[in-house]
Amino acid sequence: MNAQASVDVVIFGGGIAGLWTLARLRQAGYSVVLLESDALGGTQTIAAQGIIHGGAKYALTGAVSDAAQAIGDMPQRWRDCLARKGELDLGRVRVLSQHQHLWSTEGIGSRMTGFFASKLMRSRMSAVEGADRPDLFQSTSFKGSVYRLEEPVLDLPSLVAELVRQHGDACFAVQPEMVQLDSANPGCLKIATPTGQLTLQAQQLLLAAGAGNEALLKKLGRKTPQMQRRPLHILMARGLLPPLYAHCLGASTNPRLTITSYPLAKGEVVWHLGGQVAERGVARDETEQITAGKAELATLLPWLDLTNIHWATCRVDRAEIATPGGRRPDSWHVDSHQGVITAWPTKLAFAPCLATDVLHCLKQSSIDPSGGNCTALADLPHPPLAQPPWDEVKIWN
Ligand SMILES: Cc1cc2nc3c(=O)[nH]c(=O)nc-3n(C[C@H](O)[C@H](O)[C@H](O)COP(=O)(O)OP(=O)(O)OC[C@H]3O[C@@H](n4cnc5c(N)ncnc54)[C@H](O)[C@@H]3O)c2cc1C
Repeated sequence: MNAQASVDVVIFGGGIAGLWTLARLRQAGYSVVLLESDALGGTQTIAAQGIIHGGAKYALTGAVSDAAQAIGDMPQRWRDCLARKGELDLGRVRVLSQHQHLWSTEGIGSRMTGFFASKLMRSRMSAVEGADRPDLFQSTSFKGSVYRLEEPVLDLPSLVAELVRQHGDACFAVQPEMVQLDSANPGCLKIATPTGQLTLQAQQLLLAAGAGNEALLKKLGRKTPQMQRRPLHILMARGLLPPLYAHCLGASTNPRLTITSYPLAKGEVVWHLGGQVAERGVARDETEQITAGKAELATLLPWLDLTNIHWATCRVDRAEIATPGGRRPDSWHVDSHQGVITAWPTKLAFAPCLATDVLHCLKQSSIDPSGGNCTALADLPHPPLAQPPWDEVKIWN
């Protein structure tokens, strides 16, 4: 049976970019459907560390880059949502920590001293001493400095679950091969359904499918915008570990190690280890990466007891707008061209900026809310929720 449906916007991808934008567009009165090929919460989003960056990490070069400027407002923008007074109501989302710490193992070099002295950083971080330090840095063996950053860390499964609780009715599961796209008429989608074919007419497509944008653009016959992948090999340590949300500063401009924690049952905690260890670990296999992670913790936190700690790894590519030399983009990217908006947030923290830009693009293209008719979509199933990487581990080493 052939059926017809029409909406203002079809979003591809149910990671943070798609889900946040879905919420903002519906709030503005647009009729929207989100198509997800796997699970809501996405690929990168559910594997991320949940840090709502305020720019400190970006400013480690000593100079305040454009990225550090752009991201400075993000913690407050998210905090307003968490306090139910922002653009979205995230009052039910669990905050794992209201702040993070930065620690350095030894005295910081002169470049770093300039960074800590800069006006921008003075307003965003403060030195912490003695009993105010996390338990792990109370050890008499620790000789470095600790700073507190006013950047919250969110429980991403709860963030995804809350956005889906509010807007899951507009999210549908479709495999890429079920969807036919027409390069000459991108707003006309043909979807194979269990009972026949559905023609879905949209005023605008939003490609918010992370790494999946590449294949979608190809299907639409478009060569731009171009995407880059920056792979990571994440390490996870599980056991009776203290909760810690902290970056370790090394000599480079990227944190040497970023630790976030996720509480499990029976007092166990998973440490999610990112930063340079995850970037450099791309060339290592799982065993080598675990060995490297153990060595790094033994160097940086030698007093930490790692007996009875279990290990696993997982690989995820960051998908972003391509940059010269493949360097990290400074901010989110939204590109609007002939009926198709393509977007990458670059950072989870930037999702609100991405959604605001999508709203501007719709206004600029004179696309106003027009109602739509989604009844025929009822045949399609709703996608499941994505599981965090530690819940997907089959064997802990
Ligand atoms: C290990 C790691 C740690 C990170 N930590 C942080 C952090 O602490 N703070 C921060 O701000 N940022 C962080 N980031 C960056 C952040 O995770 C990403 O910028 C953000 O999650 C990207 O969201 P997204 O919605 O664009 O993509 P994704 O989360 O990847 O979602 C894309 C979705 O599109 C779906 N899809 C793909 N193809 C199709 C298709 N053809 N049709 C329908 N659906 C499709 C996928 O199944 C997926 O669900 C981290 C990234 C990684 C990898």
